[in-house]
Amino acid sequence: MGAGRFAPSPSGRLHIGNLRTAVLAWLFARSTGRDFLLRVEDLDRVRAGSEAEQLAELDALGLSFDGTLVRQSDRLPVYRTIVDELKAQGLVYECFCSRKDIAEAGSAPHAAPGSYPGTCRNLTAGERAEKALHRPAALRLRAEVNEFSVQDELAGRYTGAVDDFVLVRNDGAPAYNLAVVVDDAASGIDQVVRGDDLLSSAPRQAHLAQLLGYTIPTYAHVPLALNEKGQRLAKRDGAVTLEEITEQGVRPAEVRAFLLESLGLPGQDLQAALEAFDPAALPREPWIVKPENIVQQLMPPASRNR
Ligand code: GLU
Repeated sequence: MGAGRFAPSPSGRLHIGNLRTAVLAWLFARSTGRDFLLRVEDLDRVRAGSEAEQLAELDALGLSFDGTLVRQSDRLPVYRTIVDELKAQGLVYECFCSRKDIAEAGSAPHAAPGSYPGTCRNLTAGERAEKALHRPAALRLRAEVNEFSVQDELAGRYTGAVDDFVLVRNDGAPAYNLAVVVDDAASGIDQVVRGDDLLSSAPRQAHLAQLLGYTIPTYAHVPLALNEKGQRLAKRDGAVTLEEITEQGVRPAEVRAFLLESLGLPGQDLQAALEAFDPAALPREPWIVKPENIVQQLMPPASRNR
């Protein structure tokens, strides 16, 4: 039996798009007999108090988790060990480039736009020492491929760019792509369900997983919630968090029903949704949300305008 997971970054409250992704991750895991794990991705952009708020929000929706909560900030020595292993295989190099340097260098010929151009890939020891006087080094993977394919439950076979991506940032913090891959493998996670803004990261992560000898998880990148302008849902859009919605008299179970029904599933409870869950029937388009209408839609007519 494998496991699925939800891995929020504690940078603020979860909005209903994040909650919908959490519900989907739960449905994917439970419908395949997997455990469902929770990981707090607190390596950067942490807002004090946010972890507890997010846990309470997930709990209010009735999502059950297995095992113990994993915090990435507790795992720094593990990431260090893995980077040392990759170093020993000659798969890591120091990079002194700023964002500006990378933008000015442009992409290497035949590389995907935005790929690291390889400026620091083959520096001599002298060049490295000189650059190190001006800037601390980030550590990059010496990728052996330019692209990698993954199988996604919703997107199908997806081939995306793999460049020499950052493993350790130049402030010493492990990079997102490294931490995710290491943590998923360490927890026995073999099913990754998350927002489709991360689909383009999956080839890099799958390639790294393969280099480390891990089993590549199955992926399902699910549609994001967008506002009417096609932008990601955010605070500026109005009442988008569970707290903001429930403050106006709507119960969490009604919010959950709203989320489930937006997925074409019965809304009465998670068990009914689980029985009806069919990944092939899920909407493939972004979920367009009009926050100003959510409460109106959810309140029974008699209780409106009081
Ligand atoms: N922590 C990431 C986020 O909140 C998700 C990472 C992942 O699921 O791989 O966007």
